[in-house]
Amino acid sequence: MTFSFCGACERLLPDDAFDEEQRRRRQSIRRCQDCIAAGNELVLMKRGTARDEEDFCSVCQLPLPIAMEESMLQPCCMKRVCNGCILSAKKCGILKNGCPFCRTPIAIAKERELLAMVTERVAVLDPVAVCFLGYHHVRGGYGLVKDPKKVIEFCQKAADMGDKNAHYILGDAYRKKWEKCSTEVCSDRDLSFQHYEKAAMEGHIFARFTLGVLECKEGHRDLALQHFLISAKMGHKLSMDNVKILLTGSIATEAICAEALQEYEAAVEDMTSTSREEAKQMGAENIRSFII
Ligand SMILES: [Zn+2]
Ligand SMILES: [Zn+2]
Ligand SMILES: [Zn+2]
Repeated sequence: MTFSFCGACERLLPDDAFDEEQRRRRQSIRRCQDCIAAGNELVLMKRGTARDEEDFCSVCQLPLPIAMEESMLQPCCMKRVCNGCILSAKKCGILKNGCPFCRTPIAIAKERELLAMVTERVAVLDPVAVCFLGYHHVRGGYGLVKDPKKVIEFCQKAADMGDKNAHYILGDAYRKKWEKCSTEVCSDRDLSFQHYEKAAMEGHIFARFTLGVLECKEGHRDLALQHFLISAKMGHKLSMDNVKILLTGSIATEAICAEALQEYEAAVEDMTSTSREEAKQMGAENIRSFII
């Protein structure tokens, strides 16, 4: 007799505890018949439903804007600061003296010098810095060249240290390999899902959204809805739009959609501040030019 893992009750059960459709699924989205009958949720959908402390601006302590260009990772301390705080620091002269968080002099630094600062953080095994190095090998940048092997090498190291963003980048990296793969059973597909799921269970919004898109493509629209609801409630617009699309496809209900919209709007409100709005009007490139 063979055994399979249930993604809801986390028990290892004989295959006949699952119906045929569930048996074909990967373990993270497979539920035993008992769990289906009891309506037990998958662990994948129970974890990572709120933003963690890394997702807050180190200066104003508000949840960071979701668009990556609306905040900047500081090369000195590897803390993410929102553009609103960078603009405020520029206005009151703090940027002249250094980073708005740790005050290390970084203003008008050259990309090469910024990379040297990051390398110092890598030397002390800061997972965010290790992930930064991995990420900038995706397309090149900061004097680094494009190198898919190094993306995986650095991001795996950062992921092993618990960096959720590194899991997300690995999910993307293995997805690229999987999309090129011609065989039906592709180990890169499994790795891609595993990394996206680890990131999503740590509250990574883009990983959660990506899982929704992938599940939709695989025909699991009920699972897609569960993913989109989680990221929509954290303030992600595209996820909210997809919940509305699934409403017209009769997968979501009016009540589920209305509740999600309410939480989505509250999350967006929590991410809004006067200085962030002003920085947005100025454009991310202009804010970036204060530092580089
Ligand atoms: Zn179960
Ligand atoms: Zn801030
Ligand atoms: Zn700093």
